[in-house]
Amino acid sequence: MTVARTQDRMSHDVFLPAEIVELRARARASVAKHVAPVAREIGSREESVDSFPWDAFRGLASDGLFGIPFGEPYSTIEHPMLGVCTVAEEIAYESSSLAGVYDGQCILVPATLAHATPAMRERLVPDLVSGQQAFAFATTEPETSSDLTATRLGTWAEETVDGWVVNGRKRWITNSVVAGWVSMLVRAGRDGERAHMLLIDLSSPGVRIGTPDLKMGHRGQITADIVLEDVHVPRECLLGEPGGGMAVALGALVRGRIGIGAAGVGVAQAALDLAVHRLQTREVFGRPLGAMQHWQFQMAQRATELECARSLYQKAAILLDRGDRTAEPEAAMAKAYGTRLANDLVREAIQVHGAVGFARQVGETGESVRLEEMYRDAKILEIFEGANELQQWIVARRLIGRDITG
Ligand SMILES: Cc1cc2nc3c(=O)[nH]c(=O)nc-3n(C[C@H](O)[C@H](O)[C@H](O)COP(=O)(O)OP(=O)(O)OC[C@H]3O[C@@H](n4cnc5c(N)ncnc54)[C@H](O)[C@@H]3O)c2cc1C
Repeated sequence: MTVARTQDRMSHDVFLPAEIVELRARARASVAKHVAPVAREIGSREESVDSFPWDAFRGLASDGLFGIPFGEPYSTIEHPMLGVCTVAEEIAYESSSLAGVYDGQCILVPATLAHATPAMRERLVPDLVSGQQAFAFATTEPETSSDLTATRLGTWAEETVDGWVVNGRKRWITNSVVAGWVSMLVRAGRDGERAHMLLIDLSSPGVRIGTPDLKMGHRGQITADIVLEDVHVPRECLLGEPGGGMAVALGALVRGRIGIGAAGVGVAQAALDLAVHRLQTREVFGRPLGAMQHWQFQMAQRATELECARSLYQKAAILLDRGDRTAEPEAAMAKAYGTRLANDLVREAIQVHGAVGFARQVGETGESVRLEEMYRDAKILEIFEGANELQQWIVARRLIGRDITG
């Protein structure tokens, strides 16, 4: 079911550079062509190695949307962070899980490749931009994720004459089942106090990819363990300084969180549009549902929050594009606010739809609103790339002072 976009009459991109307004239109057309036709199927099928949505992934890449973080010769966009976040919002409007895939490929991984040697960048970036290869980013392990202290990491690298030998296990790694390379955070030595960020070729001897995880939602974002047994990683695969891996990982995550905030905005916008359509078209007690002041006030409030959420991610992205600060609290605000709003709006959109909002499909008519899928998808946005409580901690640290908050 296609419904009118309230964004086109309610939201004005007054602060945005013209190139981003143009990019939004281009991304929307690309998503309509490559994602929308397959989004419902992607959202409902069970995860497997073969279910990675290559056609949608490469379709977006073929329209130039993967080159944005790298600048010339791949892209002329002068606001790359704002650009990729705008694209993430547009993808999430149709498919939250594909926005998660895009966040990994076009935000997290490029942020780590900025620390790669020129030779490694030259080798890997063309395949990333064309979508020929999927890439992964790995910090999470079975025993640690929110707490990324180096001494908590169970994946560790022992130095050799020409690089490192890596052992350990990463968990929940997006794209791992199909990726060619991963940017991975590892402990620097078995008992080290610091961490390295390493680029690891997933076809290396000693690498095993686990069975895909079966999740509540985000079925198009396929995750699995990466198991490493005596994997040799050459010296040129170091990202950043030796022992400087935590800064590389956290720098990437600040960016990734803005992307997830933007994805939350895309999901929230889609839910608002569905809810408004229902309020305009469903009759109760002889009047449209939208004549009920309860829903008028509720949706007016949510539309206001949506404006705030979009402005938050845009502001955080612009700060990073200006390069004048880390934008860590702004990124945290954008992530927590945008993703909570997505969950609130999806839940309320189901409420205004009644039973049909709860259904995958109405048996006799085949009618289907995608809210069941959106409800399953939205929850993870509040958890991954730093749970929302962690984001609030980041804001509180800046607000109250780390000496008090810890
Ligand atoms: C679909 C999907 C894709 C993913 N992709 C990747 C990927 O590509 N790469 C990768 O490395 N990881 C990935 N992850 C892992 C994800 O980032 C972690 O699951 C997430 O960071 C939370 O970590 P955890 O599950 O270990 O929960 P824990 O760290 O055990 O946290 C559990 C809960 O504790 C609470 N909590 C945590 N910290 C605080 C705090 N400071 N204050 C108060 N409460 C707190 C939060 O409510 C949190 O949800 C993915 C996960 C999923 C499901």
